[in-house]
Amino acid sequence: MSKNELTMRPCIVCNNIGFNRLWLGKSLADASDFRDVVNPSAKFFYELETCKFCGHNSIQTDNPCLLPTRKHDFIKYGEPTEHYPKISNILGNLNLDFKDVSIHTFSYKDVQLANFLANSLSISDINLNDHAGCSDDWLPTDLADNSFVDPQPLRGFFAEINNSKKKNKIVLVTRFFDHVASPELLQKVTDVASPTVHLVFDLNDYERLSARGTLEFIWNERRNFFHKNHLEFILGRKNQRFSMFPYESSEVSPTLSGVISHQLPKNDDVLKLTKPSHVGTDFCAQLTKLRNLWRGKLAKDHKLAIIGASHKGISLAQFVLDSQTLYALHDDKEVLKDKVAPVLPPLGFHSVSGFDFRAYTHIAITTTLLIAAKIIPKIRASGYTGEILDFDCKRLD
Ligand SMILES: [Zn+2]
Repeated sequence: MSKNELTMRPCIVCNNIGFNRLWLGKSLADASDFRDVVNPSAKFFYELETCKFCGHNSIQTDNPCLLPTRKHDFIKYGEPTEHYPKISNILGNLNLDFKDVSIHTFSYKDVQLANFLANSLSISDINLNDHAGCSDDWLPTDLADNSFVDPQPLRGFFAEINNSKKKNKIVLVTRFFDHVASPELLQKVTDVASPTVHLVFDLNDYERLSARGTLEFIWNERRNFFHKNHLEFILGRKNQRFSMFPYESSEVSPTLSGVISHQLPKNDDVLKLTKPSHVGTDFCAQLTKLRNLWRGKLAKDHKLAIIGASHKGISLAQFVLDSQTLYALHDDKEVLKDKVAPVLPPLGFHSVSGFDFRAYTHIAITTTLLIAAKIIPKIRASGYTGEILDFDCKRLD
């Protein structure tokens, strides 16, 4: 897809065309594209878009991948689990005969929830497969006539559901909505919901995340930063019935989760809407502000260490820092050892433990706060006196 065609693509939420745009980069690799050797990774242009009509924030790219999940299967992300009892409750109230129900997972991220539901609802037919796989499995197979051909993993997923002999099926699609990059694929997966197939989803609640004044969740495999009312509007427009709830605790960052099922009552309040009920934060403006903060912080001869080479650290380098910034990446994760990072830091990719950080003027820690709290005293004890900052350029100590 060319840049011009992208510009003409309507908003995935409200179908209008008209966006605020912010250029992210013209030659960026997937944020999870760590490699064993220096073979050039596939690079694409990325831009941030905010819909002028409904406020939906998304990342647009010429990367043809239909579902960018992760580049390699050694990369794993933990997801929240605390809201599982609420999901079990919604499903329990559907009054299905749970002896005649099968559970199906879309990705490895669904396995824990599948086991929880099997246990809490006494379901014995449980199918734990990772159809989502890696991003490269979702490259389109036919581009010639622009028609949507079901990618192989989607065919396998549908076949598994169709082959189940059980009367009702519960299908889990954790983190599908924020990653899906094609309106057709979004339609196909939400259409799985039928009188006997019930979909369970969860995603980050980007409305509440951005209200905290952070952009640390932005990375180029995440394409849709849905708000609750955006997702409600999409599902309502597709005539789906659903029960959606926001979840947050001291352990869990803001999450949206719920069930799509024909057995649920009609969401009349949403069906009446002609567009999502309110416009949210403009991420383009928020990111511009963040770029300026970092630009003001780092002068020409300054050197920055980024600790944490997961998506947050990579996105800081790709989307936020000035291209002239001298920075290094640091991470101790065993799976990343000797790997080539998706960005090539001018000051290299190094370990954290045992490293002398005194050559840097600034450090950005992009790990979880829990890990940061363990790292900071060690760095200070080693005599480091520079500023230690987070993704959003705020001081950590
Ligand atoms: Zn829109």
